[in-house]
Amino acid sequence: MAVERTLSIIKPDATRRNITGKINAKLEEAGLRIVAQRRLRLSKTQAGAFYAVHKKRPFYKDLVKSMTSGPVVVQVLEGEGAVQKNRDVMGATNPANAAPGTIRKDFAESIEANSVHGSDSAENAAQEIKFFFKKSEIVG
Ligand code: ADP
Ligand code: MG
Repeated sequence: MAVERTLSIIKPDATRRNITGKINAKLEEAGLRIVAQRRLRLSKTQAGAFYAVHKKRPFYKDLVKSMTSGPVVVQVLEGEGAVQKNRDVMGATNPANAAPGTIRKDFAESIEANSVHGSDSAENAAQEIKFFFKKSEIVG
């Protein structure tokens, strides 16, 4: 399996509870390397654009609201099969269905406030990384 990069976001529910270190520890324990990281507050426009694929979903408005409710930490993760590896360590979207030991099982508050975002394909990862980071900001 090739070395890949993927985009991760530690969501406002997690920054609010001061558990970014605990989440980073899980990512690193899974063999992912944090090769770029920045804390920021998403604007409504940014969050809306980032989640544009969900525009028609009933939860879109609430999702944008919750993603702009506090700071996020955006990260580029690197490793063998990083896209799938990150999805595995994140766990299922709904924490009620997430496997033991996953970030969402251990930390998520609800299906919406589920602590982390992770790209779902190599193609989306490339796009999402570009959304937040310049090449020079990623140091592998
Ligand atoms: P994932 O983050 O696991 O890739 P999706 O891409 O389907 O999940 O959804 C994006 C985000 O939208 C989820 O992480 C969650 O915060 C929110 N979300 C998804 N489904 C629901 C839902 N049924 N109700 C409320 N929020 C949801
Ligand atoms: Mg998704």
